[in-house]
Amino acid sequence: MEDVDDLKVARLGSRADRVPGGYRLNARKVFISNGSIARYNVVTAYEDVQRPLETSMSLVVPNDAPGFSVGRVERKMGQRLCPAAEIICEDVFVPEAMTARNDDGARMIDTALSITRGPVGAMSTGIARGCLERTLKYLAQKRVDGRWLFEQQWVQLNLAEMFGAIQAGRGLYMDAAIALESWGFGKIQSSGPTNLGVPRFIRKSSFFERVLDDPRAARQMLEAYRRSVTTVDLQRCVAIASTAKFMCSDMAVRVCMKAMEILGEDANDPQWGVEKCLRDAKLAQIFEGTNQLNRLHVTRGLLSRGS
Ligand SMILES: Cc1cc2nc3c(=O)[nH]c(=O)nc-3n(C[C@H](O)[C@H](O)[C@H](O)COP(=O)(O)OP(=O)(O)OC[C@H]3O[C@@H](n4cnc5c(N)ncnc54)[C@H](O)[C@@H]3O)c2cc1C
Repeated sequence: MEDVDDLKVARLGSRADRVPGGYRLNARKVFISNGSIARYNVVTAYEDVQRPLETSMSLVVPNDAPGFSVGRVERKMGQRLCPAAEIICEDVFVPEAMTARNDDGARMIDTALSITRGPVGAMSTGIARGCLERTLKYLAQKRVDGRWLFEQQWVQLNLAEMFGAIQAGRGLYMDAAIALESWGFGKIQSSGPTNLGVPRFIRKSSFFERVLDDPRAARQMLEAYRRSVTTVDLQRCVAIASTAKFMCSDMAVRVCMKAMEILGEDANDPQWGVEKCLRDAKLAQIFEGTNQLNRLHVTRGLLSRGS
């Protein structure tokens, strides 16, 4: 769920029921990136689906847990190396130590968005850069009526536009990273016992398991976060990250379209990789909240700061 307001009106079906020693999870999620190949999935579910903001939980589910299964694996137009799958949890028992109750569901959603959207901006900018490089490679061999295509001024104008847009994209996602570090979740990476936490938390699964086994370490991390990051700061991070996400992914699609124009009919030829860039870029406009939703989150951040 990408939006607090949507959560209030959504018809939710993912339930976590309290049982001795943990929770019984029943949930279905679609389009989960790497869901079919990951060792663990983090599933959001609700103790009471009528009161999602007050009762949301995060549960870590190993893919070999009894009751866990993978449903449909999507045939996607782009980013095909990253499978998107349906995951199904039917009466999966999740021990207490592998669960976290979110005291504040809205804050949990915003925290996730503040962390994940900047990197989508970076990914999009990388796609655009790859597309520009492929275009240059194409131009290095393309002659029309005996003359190099790159000698034409309309081509040169488009190349400059593409490069300029990519440079601007770099600034935006770096801004999101700096905001996260200055005001958001990144603040706690270097503080006290929590420096155990984030970078390796993601990279080393053995460490991840240790943190899960040690509720004290996890609690300390959450308390440090609560103390040091205010709601206004968090919304500011979401707004800046959402800006990077929608601006960079829109930019990547525009850059790819320009490349398609330069290559003309050759753009359809997969050997140049430009059509692949366009398919990849288009997906970045959709996931991590559609770009419309990202725009709304930017405005929400502006209004909350304005007040
Ligand atoms: C390849 C891929 C990988 C994904 N990976 C994951 C994953 O790993 N984990 C995960 O949890 N999810 C994942 N998703 C889901 C993804 O986050 C959602 O699909 C995405 O956020 C869009 O939400 P939705 O599908 O509910 O569309 P909807 O929100 O239903 O949107 C449908 C349309 O309505 C528009 N719309 C909706 N609300 C508004 C509004 N308030 N104002 C204006 N327009 C609006 C949207 O812009 C869109 O055009 C993935 C999706 C894709 C495509």
